[in-house]
Amino acid sequence: MENRGSISIHAQNIMPIIKKWLYSDKDIFIRELVSNGCDAITKRKLAQPEAEVEYRVTVSVDEAAGVLTFADNGIGMTAEEVEKYINQVAFSGAEEFLKQYGGEGDEKKGGIIGHFGLGFYSAFMVASKVEIDTLSCMEGSQAVRWTSEDGMTFAMEPSARAAAGTTITLTISEEEHEFLHEYRVREVLDKYCAFLTTPVYLDAVEKETPAAEAGEEKEAPAGPKPINDTHPLWLKKPSDCTEEEYKAFYTKVFHEYEPPLFWVHLNVDYPFNLKGILYFPKLKQEFGGMLEGPIKLFSGQVFVADNIKEVIPEFLTLLKGVIDCPDLPLNVSRSFLQNDGYVKKLSAYITRKVADRLTGLFASERENYEKYWNDIHPFIKFGCMKDDAFYDRMKDALLLKTTDERMMTIQAYLDANREKAENKVFYASDAKVQAAAIALYTQQGIDVVLFDSPIDTNFISFLEYKNKDVRYSRVDADLSGLTSDEAAEAALDADKLTALFRDALGKEDLQVKLESLKNADLPAMAIEEEQMRRFKDMSRLYGGGFAMPSAASLVLNKRSPVIAALSAREADEDAKMICRQVYDLAEMARQPLEAEAMGAFIERSNKFLERLLK
Ligand code: ADP
Ligand code: MG
Repeated sequence: MENRGSISIHAQNIMPIIKKWLYSDKDIFIRELVSNGCDAITKRKLAQPEAEVEYRVTVSVDEAAGVLTFADNGIGMTAEEVEKYINQVAFSGAEEFLKQYGGEGDEKKGGIIGHFGLGFYSAFMVASKVEIDTLSCMEGSQAVRWTSEDGMTFAMEPSARAAAGTTITLTISEEEHEFLHEYRVREVLDKYCAFLTTPVYLDAVEKETPAAEAGEEKEAPAGPKPINDTHPLWLKKPSDCTEEEYKAFYTKVFHEYEPPLFWVHLNVDYPFNLKGILYFPKLKQEFGGMLEGPIKLFSGQVFVADNIKEVIPEFLTLLKGVIDCPDLPLNVSRSFLQNDGYVKKLSAYITRKVADRLTGLFASERENYEKYWNDIHPFIKFGCMKDDAFYDRMKDALLLKTTDERMMTIQAYLDANREKAENKVFYASDAKVQAAAIALYTQQGIDVVLFDSPIDTNFISFLEYKNKDVRYSRVDADLSGLTSDEAAEAALDADKLTALFRDALGKEDLQVKLESLKNADLPAMAIEEEQMRRFKDMSRLYGGGFAMPSAASLVLNKRSPVIAALSAREADEDAKMICRQVYDLAEMARQPLEAEAMGAFIERSNKFLERLLK
């Protein structure tokens, strides 16, 4: 006896939208159907603890027949249950979602729905016909077959199925042929189902095999090995896990052969149920270290998505890892997650655990911590800027690296240099280019630290904002501490020198100053005020595009014999050539010359060589 009807009223409204939106994450139908099978098995284990069944979900691909099946030996459904759970209530979750995001097709919505799953009806994204063949495991149940071609109307009839469980058969529509390829299905299973609680097998029916004899229930032969690991490492007690296991898990999940530096194993049942492992990867220099990740979010071993920012603070997504929160209400909308107190606490807890691990290393394994610093500093700096609570925990464990490769905390730097530079941190952004300026400080016993990664421009301003007493000054930003009290031998003509340099360089408004620098061999330095230079660095960083004129001033060293000689001689062409050379050398000690200036510098240098030999 056949029973036909319409699926709940919501279906009429929702099906067309599902089909239209869900193109980007179509592959989630596989996750939904496989996890339904796992759920059904969990339910049967509860309902029939005594049943001796080898539980499994089997996915079979039959390209020739154009079908994909999902078979489980779980609890199954009676006709009444199909009527209730499939025909009536299956859409309630989706409906709530669509109320929030409803309206005309915004392309992003597809992705959002995809992350949170629509359950059974997602099958209609790829199938022109969906069949459920099911037998409840309860004594005396009658097997039933449900068929629908559009997700809006259905037919139900008795089935000859003899074994308890459910088989969902999808006739894959033409445009979705990819889901009839074994490798494609395997790829999706690996993505979403790699850690499901029940063994999942993938079974491909060979093309040559003749179609199954009509009427005969074809039991899919099991693949040799399940595609999933039902006991992922994150569920184990941290004290039971070995270093090898952590590393092997990392390689397997992230296909990353460079071992991680260290990791944090999260494992709590209270106040929330949270398990996971976060790895600190070795930095990939080519990316400046800012494109690491992902952090995979699971809900009860079912993969949900990578880097869900509502749950995992953005800066943590520079790490690689897995987080499993079975209690997260992931079937509801993201705006709910954003406002959910539970999710906020969870997110704060994860951050705290990561900070504790880092400060723990700092306190008890300082040598390792220093060794890791090069790899982890962009992450720590980014985290400090993004999250005050993280900064508060980390602030005493922030390290500065000196130009001679020593590591010191900010406080240690200030203590060590207090006499010569009170509450000032001198830094260089490029150890090679700024070598001459660096030497001016180090020769006097002042430490110079390196801030040479892209994040540092922002981080320095952040540090000054957090601690207004301490100023950061680049080695070419001011002369404090670099000038000498020794009087110059001869009085120099400042006006004459200024005019000479301006004329030689064709820069009418060049700022020229005369100072006695401690190092008499250095004819001149180009100095650019810290705030001005930072402002320019920032606008370059954010792609301002336009080149701002240099606001550097030229400091001539009264103690340099070159400057003394220039002051004494007449302003002929040779004097101008020397001025240009002095200027270029001073600029080069600050930043690389532009191509044109570099060309002129080389040409001029060659002329000097010819002159020497004449
Ligand atoms: P959810 O899994 O979130 O409840 P679904 O749309 O995936 O939503 O499934 C709806 C309901 O259909 C399930 O709650 C369950 O009662 C029933 N169901 C779906 N698939 C199966 C299955 N393989 N075995 C038994 N029951 C199932
Ligand atoms: Mg489901």
